[in-house]
Amino acid sequence: MTETFDRTEPLVARTRSELTAARAELGDGGVAVVMTMGALHEGHSALIRRARADARHVIVTIFLNPLQFGPREDLSRYPRTVDSDMAICRREGVDLVFLPTPDVIYPEGDPGVRVSAGPLGNVLEGQARPGHFDGVLTVVGKLLHLTGADLAYYGQKDAQQLILIRRMARDLDFPVDVVAVPTVREADGLALSSRNMYLTASDRETALCLSRALAAGAAAATEGPSAVRRAARAVLVGEPLALIDYLVLVHPSTLEDVPEWYRGEALLAVAGRVGTTRLIDNVPVNVGPGGGALEIFSDAAGRDDGPSSPTGSTGPLAL
Ligand code: AMP
Repeated sequence: MTETFDRTEPLVARTRSELTAARAELGDGGVAVVMTMGALHEGHSALIRRARADARHVIVTIFLNPLQFGPREDLSRYPRTVDSDMAICRREGVDLVFLPTPDVIYPEGDPGVRVSAGPLGNVLEGQARPGHFDGVLTVVGKLLHLTGADLAYYGQKDAQQLILIRRMARDLDFPVDVVAVPTVREADGLALSSRNMYLTASDRETALCLSRALAAGAAAATEGPSAVRRAARAVLVGEPLALIDYLVLVHPSTLEDVPEWYRGEALLAVAGRVGTTRLIDNVPVNVGPGGGALEIFSDAAGRDDGPSSPTGSTGPLAL
């Protein structure tokens, strides 16, 4: 089927059978999915617009996945704004919105069999949130199967998630192209996030140190890794109200610290707590001559096995 729809209202599916019926209307081939937890903002819209530009049909999933929240995390207070989410989907010309409840996705309760994120799932965000990425990859795998999408769009904002979803698609032969979309920011640099709703006015001011630190680090990229880290850290130490969990400059495929001799693409990532809210942000940087901030990594960046040492063999990564 090659028909195009001129839809003013997205199809809405809440159950598996509704999804199957709606999905049959769209036909096969050229179907993109944008997976979200709701509380949609301009960052999500950017993913949808990019998907619309590339694909014949766009499916948005809105599902607050309990599997990826730890027992002490913010699942119950996570913002739920379905009416405004639907208005955004309508405005962006989404074809189908899948809005399941947990019992639709996990009809037999928490799944006994899950996707393991492996070692990359235990560092950075995974260290702070044990099991988080197993929960993410499990639901991403299920939603890819259920939607039958050929293309899937994820934000650079959640860099480790993006890297792991790419790895899962490769390692487990999912027939999907994973597309990265640059981080959308407020004019003052704050990365858009559904969790920004939790910030008070003064928290928000404090939170700006994260993007400022990343910008300062990226601006030092021509001078090498330690200059990047030093410049970023200098901004964060000036803001004691942000409780920094980590600030790292890591290789985009191994997520290990890049050594001082390293030149090429690296991920400068930060996480911290501001008020009661945990925030993450990152910027891909090109370290070395002509270096600086990148919008997203090149296709090759996440595919190799880590930095090669100056002698050509894979070198030790610890500094
Ligand atoms: P979430 O609803 O937070 O799970 O996010 C759904 C998707 O939107 C993920 O692929 C995120 O990386 C992406 N996303 C969230 N915030 C932004 C942002 N500020 N810019 C670009 N993409 C984003």
